[in-house]
Amino acid sequence: MIKVENLTKSYNERIVVRGLSFEVKKGSILGFLGANGSGKTTTIKMMVGITTPDSGKIFLDGKSISEWETKKILGFMPELPSFYEYLTGGEFLSFCEDLSISGDSRKKKELEEIFTKIGLLEARDIPIREYSKGMRQRLAFAQAIIHNPEYIFLDEPLDGLDPLGRKAFKQFIKELKNEGKTIFFSSHILFDAEELCDEIAIINKGELLYKGNIPDFCKGRTLERQFVDTVEAANNPQ
Ligand code: ADP
Repeated sequence: MIKVENLTKSYNERIVVRGLSFEVKKGSILGFLGANGSGKTTTIKMMVGITTPDSGKIFLDGKSISEWETKKILGFMPELPSFYEYLTGGEFLSFCEDLSISGDSRKKKELEEIFTKIGLLEARDIPIREYSKGMRQRLAFAQAIIHNPEYIFLDEPLDGLDPLGRKAFKQFIKELKNEGKTIFFSSHILFDAEELCDEIAIINKGELLYKGNIPDFCKGRTLERQFVDTVEAANNPQ
């Protein structure tokens, strides 16, 4: 289980995440939804231990993210991944695997499977500088799961992908869930969240507006309609 307790973060004396608390069940997919600038990336970075919160705690399987051991069981795909451009995709993934501290590395055959599933098998030996945006997204996704983590955090994973790429990604995410992985992904593409998520959490101006399942939130309306109305009501209180 992921447990977030009273998380707060400020930049330049401006609070960008405020008192965030929620839980994510093990083996489920949670969609973290919010408008641009609402605090999604800041929250994810705190959840994976890259950014230190001003206050609050994060636990994976009951262990604090501030402990080194906890980082072994998570994988993270950043919103704006950067690479060593002169490496090929294959070299980059091998490098990530070598750096992995989980000790649960993929075998060569499994690596090929990952390349095939993410649609990069033919580009495996091409330098990353020649990759398109979509190919970079796929490679970033692969590095997030290369060490077989239990908890997978994806920051806008479907952004910039064409419909075929999105379909393949979503299929892969569902397969990871079937393997028992817990997936936390941020998105502003509500259609994808609707298709993938067991639950959603909505953040607005750093505060949690809703956490729960989609039917309870939508009450018969579309997710987009309900999302827009909820955020607008929060931003313009009567
Ligand atoms: P989202 O991912 O929902 O688009 P972010 O978490 O990236 O939102 O940003 C939330 C707010 O925090 C924004 O106003 C952004 O400008 C600000 N912010 C994020 N990172 C920094 C930083 N390193 N320094 C100053 N402000 C930041």
